[in-house]
Amino acid sequence: MIRVRFAPSPTGFLHIGGVRTALFNYLYARNQQGNFLLRIEDTDRERSRPEFEKEILASLKWLGLDWDEAVIRQSQRLGRYQELAQDLMARGLAYEETIENKKAVKFKISPQKTIFQDLVHGEVAFDAALFEDLVILKSDGFPTYHWACAVDDHEMGITHVIRGDDHLSNTPRQILLFEAMGWKAPKYAHLPLILGDDGTPLSKRHGAVSLTNFRDCGFVPEGILNYLAFLGWGTEGHQEIYSLNELIQKFSIKRINKANAKFNFEKLEWLNAQHIKKLAEDDYVLRISKFYEKESKKFPPAKWRQFVLLYRSRIKAFQDLKAQAGYFWGEEISYESQLRGDYLQNKPLKRHLEAWAEKAGELSGPDFENTALLEKFTREAASGWGIEAKDLIHPLRFAVTGKTVSPGLFELMGVLGRDVCLNRVKAFLTKE
Ligand code: GLU
Repeated sequence: MIRVRFAPSPTGFLHIGGVRTALFNYLYARNQQGNFLLRIEDTDRERSRPEFEKEILASLKWLGLDWDEAVIRQSQRLGRYQELAQDLMARGLAYEETIENKKAVKFKISPQKTIFQDLVHGEVAFDAALFEDLVILKSDGFPTYHWACAVDDHEMGITHVIRGDDHLSNTPRQILLFEAMGWKAPKYAHLPLILGDDGTPLSKRHGAVSLTNFRDCGFVPEGILNYLAFLGWGTEGHQEIYSLNELIQKFSIKRINKANAKFNFEKLEWLNAQHIKKLAEDDYVLRISKFYEKESKKFPPAKWRQFVLLYRSRIKAFQDLKAQAGYFWGEEISYESQLRGDYLQNKPLKRHLEAWAEKAGELSGPDFENTALLEKFTREAASGWGIEAKDLIHPLRFAVTGKTVSPGLFELMGVLGRDVCLNRVKAFLTKE
């Protein structure tokens, strides 16, 4: 029975690299019908915070990476780490040392050459003669990371430790602890690092790196997970868009790469857009409405629905809707002045816009909102004035939305409704 764990320290928000680690563990467990466990490594008393733990748990739930069994918290297992440290001392494998008037427990490193097989890197050799004795219990009775990690990996029955390459150098020390305790060490798989554009490990310096940042921008879990699965792992073939279930089916440790992976924000956005397009229509509307909780409430549900559907194929993350279509719920439009000036100085065009608004005002609300009818009306008006339809459509789009690109103008006007559109065209023509 395969048992893996994700073991975050609650000392900050869940980092995108942490999500990748959680995902690989999750995929492996589900692929092997094993267990995926969650352990909170909260032994750093100064830096651990309950709010970070809460955020980590909420993030995993939001991603749909559900764990098995109860969450283990290291701070609740102090007695166990102390008991087992006593055991090592009793056997002469650890000793007490007074550091600044307080007693800590140190593990004696036996200077030997040892080898382990990493499932990604292959054989890793280390010379423990280069290691110093290891503090396992601090003077406040708290265990150090290595000790708590080894004890828990053993007691939780972990069969495979899948974690980032930044932990590769920790593994030999943990293996020595396993050996001293007479326990069988788990298998290890160290994942390649995730690098930013400049080739250094991805960090805050590269911009948004916490999962919350991505969530707040309106990325969907499907897009994030699909993207992260391919940071350091790959399948055969050219398929790029995968559901979580498909990833579970395909996942294997054998195909984890050794080479570090570059974080590519554009690729993430592209994949996210694909997953937004793939959502069931109702699901999409529900999610984007939740994202725009305040704004969506200003409109009758059917209108809001029509509107967000118009933009579905144009957005990469939900926040793009505001950037592209904030005019929908904004009161006043701020026009880019150069283009507005050009349009307004064009006397015939100005006259045509005025005439269009006047004639369109005679349409009933439902007629105006009938896309085909409004289009026919507008095209006929243009041809009646001897101009091309586009020379009326582009300025109208700009007047109504403040944008030079948008989904189909007539669909859009239908959603905005007659009064809003006419008021905007009039304001465009008159207001300073
Ligand atoms: N708590 C460690 C971290 O957040 C995890 C180490 C491990 O997976 O062994 O980096």
